[in-house]
Amino acid sequence: MIIVLKRDSTQEVVDHVVEKIKSAGLAVHISKGKERTIIGAIGDETLLGQISLEALPGVENVMPILKPYKLVSREFRKEASVLDINGVQIGDAVIQVIAGPCSVESREQLVDCAKKVKAAGASILRGGAFKPRTSPYDFQGLGVEGLKLLREAKKETGLPIISELMDPRDTEVVCEYVDIVQIGARNMQNFRLLTEVGKAKKPVLLKRGLSATIKEFLMSAEYIAAQGNSQIILCERGIRTFETATRNTLDLSAVPVLKEETHLPVFIDPSHAVGRWNLVLPLARAAVAVGADGLMIEVHPDPENALCDGAQSLKPTKFASLMEEVRRVAASIGRTL
Ligand code: PEP
Ligand code: MN
Repeated sequence: MIIVLKRDSTQEVVDHVVEKIKSAGLAVHISKGKERTIIGAIGDETLLGQISLEALPGVENVMPILKPYKLVSREFRKEASVLDINGVQIGDAVIQVIAGPCSVESREQLVDCAKKVKAAGASILRGGAFKPRTSPYDFQGLGVEGLKLLREAKKETGLPIISELMDPRDTEVVCEYVDIVQIGARNMQNFRLLTEVGKAKKPVLLKRGLSATIKEFLMSAEYIAAQGNSQIILCERGIRTFETATRNTLDLSAVPVLKEETHLPVFIDPSHAVGRWNLVLPLARAAVAVGADGLMIEVHPDPENALCDGAQSLKPTKFASLMEEVRRVAASIGRTL
């Protein structure tokens, strides 16, 4: 940490800042220039977390040297993390595709969908049981009944399953059923939930918040990792911008930026990014081309009658042709799918 003091700061001001840093257990290095004094705090910067250095008299600027996220950073771990979800390797050369309906509606809908996405090459089945709906009058999901149906679909197809956890009180039951816990965009900064899912030690797919910066996204991942759970997949799913032509704006540049900043695998969900089924394919192609480790795609056997997100859901046949197209893009950059 580098602390720049204001011009012509008195010795008293310097001593006060130095004392604060030392009291947190760090060493100091003082560099006195003609007009300014710069103090280097040497040691574990996290120990300074309790002190508001910016608020000390005479402090002009505080510049951290290390990233605020540690465990998830590339500085901490140079090699890319590869997660093993029931034999499905995530973050490796093979691009993995999570597919399935927005929400679990019935056994028939889910099992039919699961079989079809598997046949097309998806490796993980998605399905919401607890749904984060904007309106309290919309379908809220089948809850535990939905989790049970997901387990049945897993039995029939062998596909690992992912479903969203919205409430810390449901952590145990959701973890009992799923292979990957999804933390949705609206809960990316629900720190209590992140802590619980960190303690649960289950693989987690963390979606980027609607208006979260990449730094905030990584800080949320750090919450999970700080509990000893580093089985985290990051998922870019579009952010809020002034643009209204699509449901959200897909931030494709988040992928190479995240790849630089973190060792965690990065997925893209083009379905929630665009909100329209006919735009899912071009963005899925772009996602693979830009270096995503995987995709999350909503597929429904009967989108017209879907209880949630029908407009962005692909019919199984359309999903199968998307897989074909995306496979070609993957091959062109030396990956498989
Ligand atoms: C979902 O994947 O079902 C979902 C609600 O996504 P998001 O949290 O990205 O809106
Ligand atoms: Mn959805």
